[in-house]
Amino acid sequence: MDIKVTKILLRERLADKSRHLEKITTSLRAEHSKSFSEQAMERESDEVKEQLKDSITTEINQIRTALDRIDSGNYSQCSKCDGAISAQRLAALPYTQLCIICAA
Ligand SMILES: [Zn+2]
Repeated sequence: MDIKVTKILLRERLADKSRHLEKITTSLRAEHSKSFSEQAMERESDEVKEQLKDSITTEINQIRTALDRIDSGNYSQCSKCDGAISAQRLAALPYTQLCIICAA
């Protein structure tokens, strides 16, 4: 895939993930309702949201790193052995920083 296209796709995904993260953060801040059973249920869904928040935050960081790597021209270079990461691998795993040998 063209690196420019990859960059656009990554930026779109970053914007999308940021919006999603904001939504979750807002709903986590929302005031809890009064009833005890409702509170228990809300706590449970808050836990799910916290986990989701963590995984989205991780993904956002990975996208940012990938974009930085594109900007510095080493997107397809393995961060461990300096070898090339195949285009096929990058298409499947756009955030990867390792070639297939180092990742194994
Ligand atoms: Zn490598």
